[in-house]
Amino acid sequence: MGKVRKQSEVFYKEALKHIVGGVNSPSRSFKAVGGGAPVFMKRGKGAYFWDVDDNRYIDYLAAYGPIILGHAHPDVTEAICRAAENGLLYGTPTELEVTFAQMLKDAIPSLHQVRFVNSGTEAVMTTIRVARAYTGRSKIIKFAGCYHGHSDLVLVAAGSGPSTLGIPDSAGVPPSIAQEVITVPFNDLAALETALARWGSETAAVMVEPIVGNFGMVMPKAGYLEGLCSLARQHGALVIYDEVITAFRFQYGAAQTYEELPLLGDAKDAAAWKAVEPDLTALGKIIGGGLPIGAYGGRQDIMEQVAPLGPAYQAGTMAGNPASISAGIACLQALKQPGVYAKLDSMAARLAAGIQTAADKHAIDLTINRIGGAFSTHFCNHPITNYEEAQDTDGEIFAQFFRLMLDQGINLAPSKYEAWFMTIAHSETDLDETLTAVENAFAVMSK
Ligand code: PLP
Repeated sequence: MGKVRKQSEVFYKEALKHIVGGVNSPSRSFKAVGGGAPVFMKRGKGAYFWDVDDNRYIDYLAAYGPIILGHAHPDVTEAICRAAENGLLYGTPTELEVTFAQMLKDAIPSLHQVRFVNSGTEAVMTTIRVARAYTGRSKIIKFAGCYHGHSDLVLVAAGSGPSTLGIPDSAGVPPSIAQEVITVPFNDLAALETALARWGSETAAVMVEPIVGNFGMVMPKAGYLEGLCSLARQHGALVIYDEVITAFRFQYGAAQTYEELPLLGDAKDAAAWKAVEPDLTALGKIIGGGLPIGAYGGRQDIMEQVAPLGPAYQAGTMAGNPASISAGIACLQALKQPGVYAKLDSMAARLAAGIQTAADKHAIDLTINRIGGAFSTHFCNHPITNYEEAQDTDGEIFAQFFRLMLDQGINLAPSKYEAWFMTIAHSETDLDETLTAVENAFAVMSK
């Protein structure tokens, strides 16, 4: 075991001089897994990465989700090259944007109108503004452990109780903004009811990841989303689904369109799933095929709040740029092919089952939450249904596992909360190699 990563260390030392923390997103740092130089990758193709020392890795990070077709998928690459040849940025409307908006609407019917932006953060931030404009209210209810990007309002943690006003989760977020946010536990309708009983008349929107992807992959309990939507609406609040991770992840469409969930893997509550439409939806990640993108949309009368039709302002120089839109169209066209999601599901099923078997063999406590082609591994002996339970897992054991896997050429996210994402580029041989690495890692960990 053990790969030499000398060049990564050299680049990291240089990066620290010029880029804050050496990384352009904190999730890329190795702080949560014992520190040191993150791996500097120089090339990706299919299921693989090569680092600056020429080590090869099987990648399950998939850039935190967007790379569902694998790296450098030929259709996406070709679409981007074609777009570049025709001029990268116009600052005018284009036919491509109309085509892509129509594709999204066909896949997700609650999007009566959409607007393209440049990231999931922007998409979420704007849904909140639009909800506030529409309702004339200012407070937002969200759920502990759900990540919605880095705008001020969503960087607010729970207060001291399950239904108290929030406290800033980041320096630079003023307490006056945190006072506008209420954070309640996920999968707990009573907590939401309590919060709405107290602040319902001031609440513009309840914002949720309908299937959580940010503290592991966590299904809503049976009836939870129906209850959430109905409670919000009883109080005149809008429902915003953050589908930045979930859209086009488990099926062609979004969580809100999954009427049946034959592909929802091992998730216990899959059978009881019932799709419920939100009022507004935020999208990102997969819909850009690997290029920067976000989109938001929803009910016609709500979206009419947005400029130039209405008083809620939102704009973007890069929004709807031909390269991102072309990459997104190519990506969705590839995902529409028959059998894609079944393959993601069956590969993830085999991998997750193999990991669990190895853990059991070595008496390592492990809970795996798998939903279709994505799953999370939690070093604990209890189920994971909310953030508190996800926090109550062993970060040190995860860090050891992460490093042992990396040293055998398996690239995972450097955080105990993040998912493994399957891509259509992974092969059965990749799974064999990964399971051998898992077996080796658990053998070391159980000594
Ligand atoms: N919403 C969810 C559910 C996310 O997982 C993320 C990013 O991980 C975001 C929003 C923010 O998206 P972006 O990083 O594109 O700004």
